[in-house]
Amino acid sequence: MKRSCFISVLVLIFCFISNQLFAQRDLSKVEIKIIPVEKNIYMLQGAGGNIGICIGKDGILLVDTQFAELSDKIKDALKKISDGEIKYILNTHWHRDHTAGNVSFGTKALIISHYNVRKRLSTEQRIFSRIINPLPTEGLPRLTFYTSITLYFNDEEVRVVHFAKAHTDGDSVVFFTKSNVLHMGDLFFSGRFPFVDLESGGNVLNLTKTIESILQRIPSTTKIIPGHGPLSTREDLKAYHHMLIQTTEIVREKIEKGKSLEEIKAEGLPDVWKSWSSGFINSERWIEIIYTSLMKK
Ligand SMILES: [Zn+2]
Repeated sequence: MKRSCFISVLVLIFCFISNQLFAQRDLSKVEIKIIPVEKNIYMLQGAGGNIGICIGKDGILLVDTQFAELSDKIKDALKKISDGEIKYILNTHWHRDHTAGNVSFGTKALIISHYNVRKRLSTEQRIFSRIINPLPTEGLPRLTFYTSITLYFNDEEVRVVHFAKAHTDGDSVVFFTKSNVLHMGDLFFSGRFPFVDLESGGNVLNLTKTIESILQRIPSTTKIIPGHGPLSTREDLKAYHHMLIQTTEIVREKIEKGKSLEEIKAEGLPDVWKSWSSGFINSERWIEIIYTSLMKK
């Protein structure tokens, strides 16, 4: 395939993806589900990235905030489990399905993120042809870090650790160390192929190394809140890691045999990976993301 044609195909694909991530969607029918995780830790599912919650005597800490249109529903859900105030918000990365709700909470709570998350939220971003405007000031992180930061809150040691160039260039995971719970943001799409934002510094090969490193850090009993998908276990993360390695290897071998992206897509992935294909990232798009990551090496 000619390079210009390849780029056009990628533009079309990412327009679709950016629509999924950033478009004005009708969220009026979305219900917020409260999922107990461990002691005072909960997960909220609505639309967009899963929210992690730590409640207790010090108040409420949120990991990510989904879409602004859902903020009132999120506040109602929080009232069912705590009468405390939201004191801290941690952003796992800049994508709006995880951060747009910041504007509803940022005047009262302190928003914390990796330096690159603030940088991307405070400037115009592009996902190919789509322009993403900066968030208003009240939605921006007011405390940033480069490597890691630890909060002592509700008798928890909340460790926020940055992993470079995986899903984006600003990803962090959040360890609730005493409760043995981990929020992984979009480093983990549980049971499905992930979106990897190559334009924001993401890369499948680094993502795979990052997952390997996280697997080495956590025991088998850790409960994991993924960016997307159900509450998960270390076994689920291992299966995801296995998928990343195996599918990358399949595409790499085909490239080495001289096959084009079109040919690799036409051949598809073995049936064993069929269930990992979701509406958001199907097999073809996943192949393209791997292919582009390998070509960028
Ligand atoms: Zn994301």
